[in-house]
Amino acid sequence: MYKEIAEYTNTHHVKLVAVSKTKPVADIQILYDAGQRIFGENKVQEMVEKYQSLPKDIQWHLIGHLQKNKVKYIAPFVSMIHSVDSAELLDTIYKEAAKNETKINILLQFHIAKEETKFGLAIEETTNLLDKLDPRYANHVSFCGVMGMASFTSDENIIRNEFRALKTIFQTIKNKYFSADPSFCEISMGMSSDYKIAIEEGSTMVRIGSAIFGHRP
Ligand SMILES: *Cc1c(COP(=O)(O)O)cnc(C)c1O
Repeated sequence: MYKEIAEYTNTHHVKLVAVSKTKPVADIQILYDAGQRIFGENKVQEMVEKYQSLPKDIQWHLIGHLQKNKVKYIAPFVSMIHSVDSAELLDTIYKEAAKNETKINILLQFHIAKEETKFGLAIEETTNLLDKLDPRYANHVSFCGVMGMASFTSDENIIRNEFRALKTIFQTIKNKYFSADPSFCEISMGMSSDYKIAIEEGSTMVRIGSAIFGHRP
């Protein structure tokens, strides 16, 4: 399935994050050899171990909920954090990036699904956060866009509306805070079951696991 998906995303000018969580490094190496460079993980320790044993030009994306006390382990090498869902986490990322004399790419994660369990910001929370943003953050944090997960449902209309809502949130924030910043350009939405809908609704980055690697245990 990898070839078809890579071709599909490529044709649509959408970045493909191959979600390799739970999968062994051998599986990742096969995709690497086929040309894939962006891999997504949701657990810090697993990502660190894989980073250490795989080629150094892999771009590692942290896609799952991130605890503040674990940011330090990934700050030296992480390519993008998709799951920034609080002002406190953002502040920790800033501090750890400063310590490492680096700049970390982040996405603001929004709660767009009906489910209670999914992490993410609300729009008001975000405007509060961005209104009061310390200008020093710009030295070590690059705001690259937004991320969201649709509801787990077979109802395509619900999924489509949630993706549409995320696109609207992206536009609102872009216009208000990042209109002159070309880095703020990504809408990370779409997984194995809904990436084609997400791309129709304006996704620039899809996160696909099981459709590439097979089902997870
Ligand atoms: C696991 C995961 C994915 C990939 O899910 P699949 O359905 O296997 O494609 C995408 N995004 C996040 C945040 C995930 O945790």
